[in-house]
Amino acid sequence: MPELPEVETIVREIGPRLEGHKIVRARLKKTDVLRRVSKPRLLRTLTGNAVEEVSRRAKHAVLRLASGHRLVVQPRMTGSLIVYDRRPTKEETKYAVLTCTLEDGRFFLYREPLEETFTPFVFAERLQGTRAAVKKAIMDQRRLAGVGNIYANEALFEARIDPSKRTHKLSLDEFARLHAAIRDVLERAVNSSGTTIRDYRTGVGERGRFQFELKVYGRAGEPCVRCGKKLVTTHTIDLRATTFCPNCQR
Ligand SMILES: [Zn+2]
Repeated sequence: MPELPEVETIVREIGPRLEGHKIVRARLKKTDVLRRVSKPRLLRTLTGNAVEEVSRRAKHAVLRLASGHRLVVQPRMTGSLIVYDRRPTKEETKYAVLTCTLEDGRFFLYREPLEETFTPFVFAERLQGTRAAVKKAIMDQRRLAGVGNIYANEALFEARIDPSKRTHKLSLDEFARLHAAIRDVLERAVNSSGTTIRDYRTGVGERGRFQFELKVYGRAGEPCVRCGKKLVTTHTIDLRATTFCPNCQR
């Protein structure tokens, strides 16, 4: 089963919630995320404009505005686009780069996940009380920004946690291990020249630049790098490919 790109997932989720809605206010926290547009021009264009259509083009989410302008966002592995039905909390907006207020009082955010407040404590707090499988919980955009399917697979392997384990059954030690593993995986992904892991797998792009090694994702049937037992893949957790080591991840 081919895996949907992370961006496609984001676009499908936010599209129906943004289309036809007007942005009444826009704020941008930093400018180093901008390409070929100045901060004043971006804010001027967004304010008072309506989102007509959200679509995906390659790895970009494209928001077509009523004015004809297009806001092109590359969420990559380091960021996420989220629509909140309520006012986001301080914690949720702290690392929001772009915050847009919609005419009906909802919020649209672009935020980055490698925040220094992403501590084991904050992590456990965001996930506690969830009975869903831990893999599902860490991929929930509303809880954690930017943990896509590949990173979830890799982080759970690194933390030696069974992806199907119910989140509320995780011990504090497991939360801490998983937190460290997610940080590590995301950091390594970002450091590999900001190029996605998918490129690595399909061979698109400059292979020489990739330093990120996948230990489980896409390696079903191959030996576990830790214990040598065969890795297995299941689609029963969230319909997407989950590859893990049944021996190391119990
Ligand atoms: Zn193993």
